[in-house]
Amino acid sequence: NEEWQIQEQGERIFVSIRIRPLKDKARNRIRYWECLNNDTILFKHSLPERGMLPASYTFDRVFDSGCDTARVYEEGARHIALSVLEGINSSIFAYGQTSSGKTYTMRGITEYAVADIYDCIEKNGEREFSVKFCAMEIYNEAVRDLLSTDSYPLRVLDDPERGIVVEKLTEVTLRNREHLHELLAICEGETFSWTSICIRFLWGILFSVDDIIYALWYGFSSSKADRVGPSLTSVFNDAILQTIESCARQYAGARNSNILAASVNFVDLAGSERASQTLSAGARLKEGCHINRSLLTLGTVIRKLSKGRTGHIPYRDSKLTRILQNALGGNARTAIICTMSPERAHVEQSRNTLLFANCAK
Ligand code: ADP
Ligand code: MG
Repeated sequence: NEEWQIQEQGERIFVSIRIRPLKDKARNRIRYWECLNNDTILFKHSLPERGMLPASYTFDRVFDSGCDTARVYEEGARHIALSVLEGINSSIFAYGQTSSGKTYTMRGITEYAVADIYDCIEKNGEREFSVKFCAMEIYNEAVRDLLSTDSYPLRVLDDPERGIVVEKLTEVTLRNREHLHELLAICEGETFSWTSICIRFLWGILFSVDDIIYALWYGFSSSKADRVGPSLTSVFNDAILQTIESCARQYAGARNSNILAASVNFVDLAGSERASQTLSAGARLKEGCHINRSLLTLGTVIRKLSKGRTGHIPYRDSKLTRILQNALGGNARTAIICTMSPERAHVEQSRNTLLFANCAK
């Protein structure tokens, strides 16, 4: 049965690369990365002392530092985000080193996607729609609601009817596209609030003191190195997940109606330097890396999915992959936007990002 096979194999993951503009043009005059033909990225130099030789990598799309987010959305995420209107779940990830532009990119993508979903809804008069929004943060395997502080951490349950659910997560029905801006501002405010900082410190003391050291160290050293200070939150969490759920009632006859419901997930991941599995303890201290379960498991899941969607896929190994299970495997569609910093100081991390992207495609 051919149709069944297509469903079973699912879609390939759409992989694109985005290079952030240089912050300090005077100090970084040499261009290390060059984009070719919209799909290839070239490392032109030879830095043998850092193990870097000239190399080229090809992906679905490559966005040079001059590209704006509108274009990144249009060519790298739109077709994935809009599948929600056909009742297909999808996920869009930003993967990359701290301060490479993940949060910047995801914020724009979420706004463009919601505007686009509304445009399509308004053009399609035969359907009745509702659009819902929810947002959560995962830190050290604890899930926190970004729209409410009532309970923490939230439990992730296997509901026999609805599948995986996050208990007590606030779901807001969007009134219109402007409503999203209010909600995004609440989420951002929430990630900075004193309660959230205290919670992080308590979890930090309980689980990993090196997280706190890492945050301070990374914030300090990277703002000194290239004057791009990461926000406190981007250092402190494992992932921020924002979900748009669209539910459409399509009238097929006088009495018949068809309900199409699906969600699109926007995921801003932790800095990819924290996925370095092979670092020795000494190197870990030197590089300030705390290994991050969400990121590691997601990497494994994505590598397995890209090799064919069969066999055991370890969704249950982290909260993030468990919550996203229905938006990753099966016939779900996935896009990964890998962000890169153009500076010389980051060439190795940039190459690691490209190697990850290579495994995902
Ligand atoms: P990350 O979330 O990966 O740690 P951010 O999104 O916080 O990185 O970006 C770091 C800094 O670089 C921020 O000040 C952000 O505004 C800026 N930035 C990132 N990408 C771009 C871009 N494409 N154009 C302009 N500024 C950017
Ligand atoms: Mg960030």
